[in-house]
Amino acid sequence: MTAPIKTVSQIKKLRKQVALWREQKQKIAFVPTMGALHDGHLSLIKQAQKTADKVIVSIFVNPTQFGVGEDLSSYPRPLDADKAKLISLNTDLLYTPTSEEMYPANFSTTIHLDGLTSFLCGGTRPTHFDGVALVVTKLLLQVMPDIALFGQKDYQQLMIIKKLVRELDIPVQIDSVPIFREADGLAMSSRNIYLDKVQRAAAPALYQTLMKARTQFKEQDAIEDIIMQAKCALTQQGFKLDYLELRDNETLAEITAPHLNQPARLFAAVYLGKTRLIDNIEIS
Ligand code: AMP
Repeated sequence: MTAPIKTVSQIKKLRKQVALWREQKQKIAFVPTMGALHDGHLSLIKQAQKTADKVIVSIFVNPTQFGVGEDLSSYPRPLDADKAKLISLNTDLLYTPTSEEMYPANFSTTIHLDGLTSFLCGGTRPTHFDGVALVVTKLLLQVMPDIALFGQKDYQQLMIIKKLVRELDIPVQIDSVPIFREADGLAMSSRNIYLDKVQRAAAPALYQTLMKARTQFKEQDAIEDIIMQAKCALTQQGFKLDYLELRDNETLAEITAPHLNQPARLFAAVYLGKTRLIDNIEIS
């Protein structure tokens, strides 16, 4: 029988373990997640293991980042399967904070970043990034790692967290990991299990459409035309479009030039039935 993974739920116990590792001069990396772990999450952990001596993974389905009517109550929570995956990677510590300790009665602190949170996913989910900023700040202050790793799958979130950490002087290095995909190109996501068979078969067309657009950008076709064609293609393939936007790779500012002459990223969010899929692709 394999040994169970060391798991803590209380901040006090977490800090005790971290303090011990600090005494032992261990470099600590942290991978925050909402669980329902897949190979994308595992790629973050593997990357963390390359750069640190100890890796802490958190699983916390954060209520403050879900909007009204979103999938907070139905979000998958397969804790035993998650633990088995963490054990298979020799993860050093699992942190599973409780909602009660994270957000005790009368909790009233909010964190809001202006600017970066108001477009792309922030346009459709106006309270989402404030919830992410709050939980990530709390988790970073609880764990106090040397490095925290985030996926480029949530690229806007990554940029927001980098800014947050910079502006609040949180002493942690933020590293990012490329999008991990299924063999057919679909970006891995805990929400992919919501897709039925027909939707799952249709879903890779999102990435294929982004790839086609990337080729057209490289051929210097007009930006407006490429975006319009890609939007049409997505709609024809059964996606309901939330957004498809080309933005600066670093600042996420809108690109208004007729042709591409700067590092950019193409961002998409679409619905297949009720399931929202996001993806992005670098256009260099
Ligand atoms: P989540 O559990 O969805 O909150 O994701 C936890 C972390 O895993 C975030 O930093 C995500 O960006 C990252 N992540 C999720 N899916 C992927 C993926 N397919 N490839 C790389 N990173 C991912």
